[in-house]
Amino acid sequence: MILGGLQKLTLLDFPGTVACTVFTVGCNMRCPFCHNPALVFNPPDEYRISEEEFFAFLKKRQGILDGVAITGGEPLLHSDIGEFIAKIKAMGFKVKLDTNGSFPDRLEKILAEGNVDYVAIDIKNTFEKYAETVGIKNFDVELIKRSIKILQESGVAHEFRTTVVSPLHKAEDFEKIAKQVEGSEKYFLQNFVDSGNLLNGEGLTELPRTELEKALEGAKKIIPQSKIRGES
Ligand code: SF4
Repeated sequence: MILGGLQKLTLLDFPGTVACTVFTVGCNMRCPFCHNPALVFNPPDEYRISEEEFFAFLKKRQGILDGVAITGGEPLLHSDIGEFIAKIKAMGFKVKLDTNGSFPDRLEKILAEGNVDYVAIDIKNTFEKYAETVGIKNFDVELIKRSIKILQESGVAHEFRTTVVSPLHKAEDFEKIAKQVEGSEKYFLQNFVDSGNLLNGEGLTELPRTELEKALEGAKKIIPQSKIRGES
């Protein structure tokens, strides 16, 4: 595994769990609104952490932290992610995995191994607008469709979520996006925040509040429990 950073404590990244967050390096997507381009490409040395250092940290946190959130970049880009997760689980931690949903075979295998407690998949947009939203020409949305189905049928606790970015999203897209994950209980809209360090942030803004509320209404027609992240 190539690790690009460690947040030693989070009360937000893993629902209901006191956790740390570990960041993997590299991503197969190029979302223009990505707020962590250094992780997508090549993080500076001072942020990198070796597997040995990471597991030494976890050993010291046994009995203090309950879980580990694994995020990226794209964690499933790494062929040894299953072993990495198994090692964390064997130390007694719960594991949450964030993924962009484009590695369905790897996701299926990892879910079958039974070491993951919670999965979050980013649903970037309507399938028609996926390629533009993830910055990859001819992106194959069948990969995302397969990942959604695999996760929904896995019995593993999960959520789907969309970072809401104007002009990539319009309020009226959200009924359609929710339809793509219909049958799930948890769907979150997260309004875009400009960190000032985006992959290609020119012209991107958050959705105005009234539009965000319209977007939520649309999503709720399909998934009544849909929420704006951070609001009850
Ligand atoms: S926002 Fe997009 S480019 Fe950035 S890490 Fe996530 S999937 Fe990759």
